[in-house]
Amino acid sequence: MNFQLTEEHLAVQEAAREFAQTELLPGVIERDEHQKFPAEQIKKMGELGFLGMMVDPKYGGGGMDTISYVLAMEEISKVDASASVVMSVNNSLVCWGLEKYGTEEQKQKYLTRLATGEIIGAFCLSEPEAGSDATSQRTTAEDKGDYYLLNGTKNWITNGSTASVYLVIAQTDVAKGHRGINALIVERGMEGFEIGPKENKLGIRGSDTHSLMFTDVKVPKENRIGEDGFGFKFAMSTLAGGRIGIASQALGIASGAYELAVKYSKERKAFGVEIAKHQAIQFKLADMATNIEAARLLCLQAAYDKDTHADYGKSGAMAKLFASKVAMDTTIEAVQVHGGYGFVKEYHVERLMRDAKITQIYEGTSEIQKIVISRELLK
Ligand SMILES: Cc1cc2nc3c(=O)[nH]c(=O)nc-3n(C[C@H](O)[C@H](O)[C@H](O)COP(=O)(O)OP(=O)(O)OC[C@H]3O[C@@H](n4cnc5c(N)ncnc54)[C@H](O)[C@@H]3O)c2cc1C
Repeated sequence: MNFQLTEEHLAVQEAAREFAQTELLPGVIERDEHQKFPAEQIKKMGELGFLGMMVDPKYGGGGMDTISYVLAMEEISKVDASASVVMSVNNSLVCWGLEKYGTEEQKQKYLTRLATGEIIGAFCLSEPEAGSDATSQRTTAEDKGDYYLLNGTKNWITNGSTASVYLVIAQTDVAKGHRGINALIVERGMEGFEIGPKENKLGIRGSDTHSLMFTDVKVPKENRIGEDGFGFKFAMSTLAGGRIGIASQALGIASGAYELAVKYSKERKAFGVEIAKHQAIQFKLADMATNIEAARLLCLQAAYDKDTHADYGKSGAMAKLFASKVAMDTTIEAVQVHGGYGFVKEYHVERLMRDAKITQIYEGTSEIQKIVISRELLK
């Protein structure tokens, strides 16, 4: 067993840290306040290889392992979780799904541009009445011979108005239940595809969340991913890896808040000494650091499982369940360490606290992670 990161891992971590500090930190408060998508920053992330980290270099990706991805996600999320959700969706849901299950033509046409960040992608599973219960798809993809006729509504879609390629899950054959679901590649601009208004959110406000409407959209058969009826399996398999990305996003939010709390506690004085000299503050920092270290180990374990082709369903769900709780607990305590200053925007920790909440909700709520974990335990 070896807990040491390699030179390459350390270099990726350092590059992500440097990028986050120099490119994402300036303007992060304003982007949050005005719900401004970090377009320029995402473009640079693509140029630096952060949007297709694990994709084979022959498709324009970085050819890196999942551990590198976790390390980079943590650093980016410490500073800007709105940017890191774009990174997570593009890497783990869109690029990974296409590379693993797409045809060579689909990879040449879409993956090569997604992996370099020339375009970004969206993953469209949730609907107004199908969230945790993803089998209740109301969006239909009627088989019309050489194309599918797509009708329905998706909601809460990250990169909703900024993506160029959308992986859309829809029901083709109701009688077959979840075995009658397909995953289709839908391009922005296809006739009958409309983008709804932007959601006004509690956190990750710089990210772009929209509902999407499909009315008689003709999607060519060659845009189906996998065999007929593979769509639900595609979605579940993709989300299993996606959880590692969200777990590391949660880890980054927690460690970002912790670092700010440590710094502030050494600067702020109360009762004649730095507040870090008060044991109540020291104990908060000790709890934060211990929880963060445990969350980091769970994230790296899940990444290692994925890299070594072991089953990462349970370890990924455990990492997300635990890291998202740590993100919530740590950010609340980081606000507390900052006192009144924690309650205003300039000190960043209130934003991190708002951002933390989503990690317990998307890509499977904490309750759903417990279902996934207990199912594995009781097999
Ligand atoms: C900002 C944001 C971005 C998102 N991005 C995307 C995206 O890009 N693509 C996408 O497809 N979706 C996306 N989502 C949707 C997200 O994945 C869903 O919101 C989430 O899966 C929960 O579904 P729901 O909101 O319908 O809640 P529900 O499923 O209605 O759940 C409500 C509550 O009931 C609990 N619950 C439900 N079923 C059970 C059960 N069997 N046992 C115990 N408790 C249960 C849940 O845990 C939750 O607490 C996003 C959501 C948000 C808010």
